[in-house]
Amino acid sequence: MSKLKGTLYIVATPIGHLGDISLRAIEVLKQVDLIAAEDTRNSKVLLSHYTIVTPMTAYHEHNESNKAKQLLDKLEQGESIALISDAGTPLINDPGFTLVEQARALAINVVPIPGACAIIAALSCTGLATAKFSFEGFLPRTSGARKAIFELYVSQSNTLVFYESSHRILSCLEDIADVYEPSRKMAIARELTKTYETVVSKTVEEVLQVVQSDKNMQRGEFVVLIEGLDRKKSQEEALSDETLELITVLLTECSVKTAVKLALQISGASKKDIYKAALELNDKAN
Ligand code: SAM
Repeated sequence: MSKLKGTLYIVATPIGHLGDISLRAIEVLKQVDLIAAEDTRNSKVLLSHYTIVTPMTAYHEHNESNKAKQLLDKLEQGESIALISDAGTPLINDPGFTLVEQARALAINVVPIPGACAIIAALSCTGLATAKFSFEGFLPRTSGARKAIFELYVSQSNTLVFYESSHRILSCLEDIADVYEPSRKMAIARELTKTYETVVSKTVEEVLQVVQSDKNMQRGEFVVLIEGLDRKKSQEEALSDETLELITVLLTECSVKTAVKLALQISGASKKDIYKAALELNDKAN
């Protein structure tokens, strides 16, 4: 009879504060045969804090494909392995994808042990809309390429989230200010769970000003978030309260087409704005 395959655990570790690890993660890290760590020296600090003495091996972006083969062999022979990265959830802008993809292809059991993740921690505390968000990882290094991404997102309704390094945080915020309206809501979440944790949740214009005027705000690790376009709000803001009221009254008596025609004659506002508002108000009423 062939030996039972081992399990690959994908274990989230803290993003700063050593207390942010689950009881189950500690238990798994103690019980597995081997821990594959992005940087074994870095992970030693966490493991010795929790008196975890499980052997470690390095698994990082430079040895990913070779190392994956060795780890998969061990898993096929019945060993259990935990994958950890330097911080947070493995595979989220950290090594592990090749290993998990190939483990799945070989029908090896892959089990997530969830925990800290900088994106989720940032979304949970900045007060920006969280119902829909897009994560872009690290943005390109050049200003032109970054702005091209912002142009793609500027009229979308989901919150844009990405990681940024301290070297580029200021130029990145300048690029954001070049593309977005100064009043768009955004946030930076810096050094989350660490001593100098700072969350600035303001407008594009204000966040840039805060970071420009304080060198300390240009240090550490960052998650940057930009709220999506609130279509309803921007539509309503495009028309005065009187015009919106007028369209609402007209819609109680006429079709959308007639209401738009009359509102256009009475208010003089743009046909496109009136038409959009009329459709929205009509939808709301029905
Ligand atoms: N796997 C990690 C996770 O689950 O969040 C992310 C790894 S990625 C290589 C590292 C980047 O995540 C940092 O450059 C920074 O942008 C962000 N990050 C990690 N820890 C952070 C923290 N404590 N506060 C703010 N951002 C953090």
